[in-house]
Amino acid sequence: MKIDPKIESILNKALAGKEINREEAVELVKINEHSYEMYALMSVANTLTRRQFGNKGEIFAQVGINVWPCPRNCGFCSFGADWNVIESRVELSLEEVVERAKEFENAGANAIFLMTTADYPFDRYIKIAKAVRKALAPDMPMVANIGDFTEEQATELLDAGFQGVYHVFRLREGKDTGIDPASRLRTLEAIKNSALDLSYCVEPIGPEHPPEELVEEMFRGKELGAVNCASMWRVPVPGVPLAKLGKISELALAKVVAVTRIVVGNSIRAMGVHEPRMLPLLAGANQIYAETGPNPRDTVEDTSRGRGFSVETCKNMLKEAGYIPLEGPSKVFQGRWRFKEKNPGELKSNVRVLVFGTQPPCARCQQAEREARQAAEKFPPGRVTVEKHDALSELGQKYGVMLTPTVVVNGKTVAVGRVLKESELVEIIKKEAGV
Ligand code: SF4
Repeated sequence: MKIDPKIESILNKALAGKEINREEAVELVKINEHSYEMYALMSVANTLTRRQFGNKGEIFAQVGINVWPCPRNCGFCSFGADWNVIESRVELSLEEVVERAKEFENAGANAIFLMTTADYPFDRYIKIAKAVRKALAPDMPMVANIGDFTEEQATELLDAGFQGVYHVFRLREGKDTGIDPASRLRTLEAIKNSALDLSYCVEPIGPEHPPEELVEEMFRGKELGAVNCASMWRVPVPGVPLAKLGKISELALAKVVAVTRIVVGNSIRAMGVHEPRMLPLLAGANQIYAETGPNPRDTVEDTSRGRGFSVETCKNMLKEAGYIPLEGPSKVFQGRWRFKEKNPGELKSNVRVLVFGTQPPCARCQQAEREARQAAEKFPPGRVTVEKHDALSELGQKYGVMLTPTVVVNGKTVAVGRVLKESELVEIIKKEAGV
């Protein structure tokens, strides 16, 4: 048996632990699903995952908190107000969410996800999350799945006890969804600048998406530093606009899973597939979801009575695929725990660095911002934030900025008209943070 030498060379590179580029990833997605190359691809991704995770599989369990007509009207979502697919408003009470999360934990789930529609009130969500956090074992990771949010809200999520967040730039965001792509990207940036661990996914995949579009999202997940990556097919819910485009096959999903796995390399701590299916579990996926409550791929009020899997069913599926279901809390999401373990006592308080420059920025202002960002990287993510502002902005006037670049740390002006070196700023930050 011979396989295409070009594909063979890309797969050998991946097997040797080397990174592949976008063009190579596109070549892999183009593989015919009924060819020798397809099974070679699955085999390589499967080997990488089993090697990296010691044949362990993980189950994440998601509680859908609410369903009501959502004004965003994403073309694949049964919650879209204009599609009239869902018949009633459902919102689980705080007690019900706590109970279901606890049930998942007791059944052996490795991480608990809490999902709402994009317009769910943030304060109410935080209140529920704090109650769930209290009920779960202290080392059970909790992961948020909500609409867009700011850097300040990212800190609130951390304070409520979350370790991670599921957030995605969906395929054809802004075209097939009712969400502003820029707002989606801002949230992803806020996550990147925080201590929250990102769970990313190439989704929702339909037959119309060309390889280049899929590969773009694989690389976005990688470049955002996602700790967990997945691929998800689009379910054609009757009555929802994109349903008419149909669905990809399980084999096609396995192919995208395999390529995603190879693209993200060993930077992830688990590779997911959604919905849970056997072929992707033989193509590099080792993580699947159990679900309860409302779900955008379902028309029933509680997905555990519809498309959703129980923890028990997930465990059986992992075993069928030759994985040993991980016992106890997931190792994927660490959030602030990671930094507490590694740096006990480090940074008693957060630090905010403002860099004021000209608009458009001159070379010196750009250098000042670069130095500040490099200094921030010396500290745990999310603890030192760097913001670049126009010297002529309202904020610039507030700090009386006369010369650029000017640097302000926690409200104190520390450099005027000069580039503050990274090493100088690190010392200032340490003093501010009480290190
Ligand atoms: S995917 Fe989210 S934002 Fe889009 S319609 Fe559904 S609930 Fe609303």
